[in-house]
Amino acid sequence: DDDPRIHGIKSKIRVVPNFPKPEIMFQDITTLLLDPKAFKDTIDLFVERYKGKNISVVAGIEARGFIFGPPIALAIGAKFVPLRKPKKLPEAWELKSLLHSSICSKMGLELGLLTLKNELEQNSQGDVIREEYILEYGRDCLEMHVGAVKPGERALVVDDLIATGGTLCAAMNLLERAGAEVAECACVIELPDLKGRARLNGKPLYVLVESH
Ligand code: AMP
Repeated sequence: DDDPRIHGIKSKIRVVPNFPKPEIMFQDITTLLLDPKAFKDTIDLFVERYKGKNISVVAGIEARGFIFGPPIALAIGAKFVPLRKPKKLPEAWELKSLLHSSICSKMGLELGLLTLKNELEQNSQGDVIREEYILEYGRDCLEMHVGAVKPGERALVVDDLIATGGTLCAAMNLLERAGAEVAECACVIELPDLKGRARLNGKPLYVLVESH
């Protein structure tokens, strides 16, 4: 892209060699956030691309997708859905304790089951779905509240960076399991040497800068 803003954005990303382990060139976006013009240009470029594109959900990946996703969502009039690391999202545990208490008490059984039915109808959006994925070393997992997205909604997935593509792939799977259509994935940075694009099953990916 030859937009003059891109050069400013790229110059504000600090590259830290051998972090968090040897051989990794860590792309540090905290220095981009320190520059209000470069940070605003980053958000503006995404907003210009997605405004009026009928996107109703911006799904941001923990943690740095939580920095770029929300301002994009607000500017295009979409909701923001956090895709979280394991065990952070509250599940509808009260349903299980309610079931337990209604089994324990004969007297309360009928009332308990009726309440349970209502709770289930109202609170199924508290249910969490999860996708595990393989990292270079080990595995990781993303979770989403299934009721946060309605079938047929058009979603944009946002993260700071695509490396192998495993994280974005898991994010897309969550949204598609909830019945949403992923319109595109958007990242600030791509590491094209790792060929993460090939793991996105042909889904379009938009990035602002490449790093080698
Ligand atoms: P991947 O699943 O391999 O595409 O990895 C992407 C995720 O890992 C993103 O959430 C990034 O924040 C993080 N990540 C991977 N490699 C780097 C890197 N070199 N610099 C900064 N973040 C990285």
